[in-house]
Amino acid sequence: MRFSGRPPDRTHLYGHGKVENLSALVETLLLLVTCAWIVREAIHRLISHRVDLEVTWWAFAVMLGSIVIDASRSRVLSHVAVKYHSQALEADALHFETDVWSSAVVILGLISVKAGEWWPRLQFLRNGDAVAALGVSALVVWVSIQLGRRTVDALLDSAPAGLEERIAAAVEAVPGVCNCHQVRARYSGPVLFIDLHVLVDGAQTLAQAHGLTETIEAAIREIAPRADVTVHPEPFQTSQS
Ligand SMILES: [Zn+2]
Ligand SMILES: [Zn+2]
Repeated sequence: MRFSGRPPDRTHLYGHGKVENLSALVETLLLLVTCAWIVREAIHRLISHRVDLEVTWWAFAVMLGSIVIDASRSRVLSHVAVKYHSQALEADALHFETDVWSSAVVILGLISVKAGEWWPRLQFLRNGDAVAALGVSALVVWVSIQLGRRTVDALLDSAPAGLEERIAAAVEAVPGVCNCHQVRARYSGPVLFIDLHVLVDGAQTLAQAHGLTETIEAAIREIAPRADVTVHPEPFQTSQS
C-alpha cells in the first residue's frame, strides 16, 4: 500500500498504482491456500473423530478477544477501502473477516466439546466445528474468487461497462464540443486514467481551446472524481471559415 502510493518515477511514468492490484491478487491467493488448509484439517477431524482441543475459560477469552479485534479492524479497513477505491485494503479486510469466522468456528468447537462432556447425549455435536469450518471455507473461497477476478480485471486494464458511453455523453454535453471519440480509460490502483479526442471550433484561439479542455476535464471529474484526464482537441471547420 505504501509502495503503491509512491509518485511516478523515471521508469514508472503512470505511478505505482498497479502494485496495489497485484498485492491484492497475491493476498487473495494466500487466502485460498489458507482455506485449503482449513478444509484439510476439518476433513481430518471428521474422519478421525479425534478432538484435541483443550477447553479452558482462558481459551474462550482469547478467542473472543481476537474476534472483537479482527472484526473492528475488518470494518475500519473495508470503510477505508471503499473510500480510497483500494483493492489491497479490501483484501486485508477480507483477511481479517476470515480470521473472525475462523475464530467463531473454534469457539463453536470449544462449546460443542464442553456440551459433549456435560451432556453425553450431545456427543454428535463433536463434529459441529468441522462442518462449520467447511461452511466458512466455502464462503471465503467464494468471496476470494470474486475479489481475485476484479484484481485481474484491473491488471488487464478492463474498464467498467458503460463508462465509455457515460464519459462521451458528459463531454458532448459541454458547450463548444461537437463530438467526442476514441475514449480510453484504465485503472492504476485507485486512479482512473482517461484520454479522449474532441472536435472543437477550429477558428478559436489556442488559449480558448485550452480553456475548453479544462472545462471538459472538470465535467469528467463529475463522473470520476479521481480521474487523470488527457484531452486531444481536433479542429472542426465551421461554415464561415
Ligand atoms: Zn480523433
Ligand atoms: Zn492544460
